[in-house]
Amino acid sequence: MTIALHGLGISRGIAIGPAHIIERGQLDIPEYELEPEQILDETQRLQEAVRAAQEQLRAIRQHIPAGTAAEIAALIDAHILMLDDTALIHEPLRLIREERRNAEWALKAQRDALVRTFEEMDDAYLRTRRDDVVHVVNRVQRILLRHSPLRHEQPDSRLAGYIIFADDLTPADTVLMQHHGIAAFVTEYGGPTSHTSILARSLGIPAIVGLHQAHVYIRDEDPTIVDGSRGVVLVDPDAASLEFYRSRREQDQRYYSGLIRLKGAPACTQDGVRIQLQANVELPRDFEHVLQVGADGIGLYRTEFLFMNRAAPPDEEEQYQNYLRAVQVLGRLPVTIRTLDLGADKEADNRRHGPLAANPALGLRAVRLCLKEPALFRPQLRAILRASAAGDVRLMIPMLSNLHEVEQVLDMIDDSKRDLSSAGMQFNPDLPVGGMIEVPAAAVCADMFAQRLDFLSIGTNDLIQYTMAIDRVNDEVNYLYDPLHPAVLRLVYGTIAAGLAAGIPVAMCGEMAGDIRYVRLLLALGLRTFSVHPSSLLEVKQLIMESEMGPLQELARRALAAPGGTEVATILEEFRLPAGAGANSTTS
Ligand code: PEP
Ligand code: MG
Repeated sequence: MTIALHGLGISRGIAIGPAHIIERGQLDIPEYELEPEQILDETQRLQEAVRAAQEQLRAIRQHIPAGTAAEIAALIDAHILMLDDTALIHEPLRLIREERRNAEWALKAQRDALVRTFEEMDDAYLRTRRDDVVHVVNRVQRILLRHSPLRHEQPDSRLAGYIIFADDLTPADTVLMQHHGIAAFVTEYGGPTSHTSILARSLGIPAIVGLHQAHVYIRDEDPTIVDGSRGVVLVDPDAASLEFYRSRREQDQRYYSGLIRLKGAPACTQDGVRIQLQANVELPRDFEHVLQVGADGIGLYRTEFLFMNRAAPPDEEEQYQNYLRAVQVLGRLPVTIRTLDLGADKEADNRRHGPLAANPALGLRAVRLCLKEPALFRPQLRAILRASAAGDVRLMIPMLSNLHEVEQVLDMIDDSKRDLSSAGMQFNPDLPVGGMIEVPAAAVCADMFAQRLDFLSIGTNDLIQYTMAIDRVNDEVNYLYDPLHPAVLRLVYGTIAAGLAAGIPVAMCGEMAGDIRYVRLLLALGLRTFSVHPSSLLEVKQLIMESEMGPLQELARRALAAPGGTEVATILEEFRLPAGAGANSTTS
């Protein structure tokens, strides 16, 4: 019998394949007291499990697929080293010997103690290392409990074509699995703008999140269909469903590959308004993709992916080489490098491993973290400045809420310029510095930010999160995540207007810009620079090329006056273009 399950479709595409379940939730840890004569065996059992965990990690390390981001290897190295550290197992061994505790429980006690210590640390970067402790301990515990190793970590894992079901996935898991050629993934938790979801879209993996209790209905190897656009999973589909989805998959493929004809055409509306259509990138492998879809440059480079999942942050030289590579690939096109935005879901595997900060999204994140830790921030500023000597580099500051933050960053940039000059190093003295408007406080004061910055870019993922007071990774409140809420529209419109008044460009690089449901509304509100995933860029371009600005004035007026998101959505429907309208058919 076919079972239909519904979650939140966050990355489009249809996948058909067998299911593979990753069970990585909380392990059931037994607790028992040892007989005195069992103590020696138990200490050996723990030491052997630690050795076996190291062996597993070395095997994974050796077989990392070519092209995998460097940070994955660095993460594995860090875990191997952690298992060498006597501090990790000294205390569990003591608990076994002196308190006659079983190995699994003793390890759990030490993990909990270390996690508490990490959480109390002032140093935000070190604090993030608690996730590594949790992962490493989890691996040893799985061995002690004789659980089979996680399949996607196996070098010879045959996951190609499989649909992965998990409680949650980290961005690193997602990258690793994509290398194994998975067809799709479905998670029980997560929101549409979590970084794992953003990565899925950018890697072109159909995906669904927030499908609670999926594990109750699905078993390994069950035949499955995933519709990433509609958030539907069919388990054990009948022949008619299979045929229907196969034919829809072919239609979709034809449609998206047909869009490539728009690659070379400028993103101009019917009445000749030229829109800048730039791309968002997360990983170096995306640089080429930006060119393949004919983007007008990189509008957002999320550099924090360079910093994640590794024992130590990349130094200035590694960062410089990375930014330089982006500039070299992009040639004369602009490369907007966003400074480090670590924090919230980009370092937290928190649901599985207990609470971190009470409200990490409201905590020490992005520019706040950078200003608190100049030793982390300075090398990045210097690296970006150095890369600016090679091309059209722009620096963008995330999560601004206060003009003082702008002043402090500008001062630090000036200091770095002085240092680089005295060291005889090249940089663009007029490096454009922009800021992200993604905190309501900054949106309300956008006119002030516009006076001090060279450009603004609206980050709707966070702007909506903070305006609506909903955690963007919490599927329980996803229903409130509404880009069309009047408060959001007013903040977006106000920011665009502030940029216009100050004579500086305003872009949008949040997911709203790449969602074809909102493109015409954003044009109507005056947005002239969009930064979207390479995978959705051509579809957005098509819509821009089909649009005419004239009628959109009325759309803006009515949308801004509407009392709620539902009413705005109805107005958007009225202004929707008839299928086949516009210039796309005439463009080659
Ligand atoms: C945003 O918040 O809209 C944004 C682009 O930044 P990120 O998604 O990386 O937080
Ligand atoms: Mg953001």
